[in-house]
This record gives sequence, C-alpha cells and structure tokens, in this order.
Amino acid sequence: MANITQEVKKVSNVETGGALIGYLSDNYAVITHCSGPGPKSKLTRTSVTIDGNYTTRLCMDISSRSDGRLYYLGDWHTHLGNSLCPSATDISAMAVLLNEKVTPWSSLFSLILHKDLTTYRLYQFRLGKKFEELPVVTCKDPITIADLKINDLP
Ligand SMILES: [Zn+2]
Repeated sequence: MANITQEVKKVSNVETGGALIGYLSDNYAVITHCSGPGPKSKLTRTSVTIDGNYTTRLCMDISSRSDGRLYYLGDWHTHLGNSLCPSATDISAMAVLLNEKVTPWSSLFSLILHKDLTTYRLYQFRLGKKFEELPVVTCKDPITIADLKINDLP
C-alpha cells in the first residue's frame, strides 16, 4: 500500500497503476507487493497502459527470489471518477491476460482505487465468468502470515 501511495502522489489528473504480486492460499489471494506502472507506461485520464516488459521482469525477479512462492496476481489502478467498477476496457484487458495464460492459475485480480485513496475495491476475474467483487482484509505484514522465508525482496 505504501508503494501505491507513492505512485499515486507522482501523478495528477491521470490514472496510474501497476502489478499486484503475491500468492494464493486456501481462501485468500495475499498481495505482498505492488509495482509502479513502469517507465514505458501510458497514463491518461481514463486508462493506464502498464509497461508490460517492466512488470514482467519485476514479477519474474520476485518470483525467483522467493523460490516461486510469489508471483503475478493481477494489477491495481486508480479511477479519477467515483465509479470503482471495472470499465469495459478493464474487463477486456483482464480477458486478454487470462487468455494469454500469464499465470498458471485460472484467476486474476484487479484492485481499483479512488485517486484520493479513500476507497478501493478488489475484483476477481475468471475465464468465461463474470467478474466478482471480493472482500479485502488488510494486514500489516502479509509476508509473515504464511511464514515465507524470503530474503532481499524489494
Ligand atoms: Zn479502470
């Protein structure tokens, strides 16, 4: 969350976003890391195009440093308006990623935040199914709850 706050502070009047990294446990998607949008991202008032090379490299790095226990879970981005529902663009972007099988899992997640960070919603996307909103639990140190022994994570 600290990283999201930092990224959101860097911009005004455009959306921003990045990758969500973490792991799936029995009943939870645990988000441990959030990246920025990357140097080649395109930020506009109504959309974020994340720098895929940047986030892929970062995810692979975190994944290998955690012995494959942390991986790409989806993305986060801000909305400038009051709607925190996924836009048509958001939905089709998720469908493309699911079709490309960017993760071995059948789900991807998208965290949508109001630009002032007062509210946010988390959605789960699955191939061929309508997206669903999920409840969010915040925890201080998500890495330790699964007793992950990870060194030198950014
Ligand atoms: Zn959106």
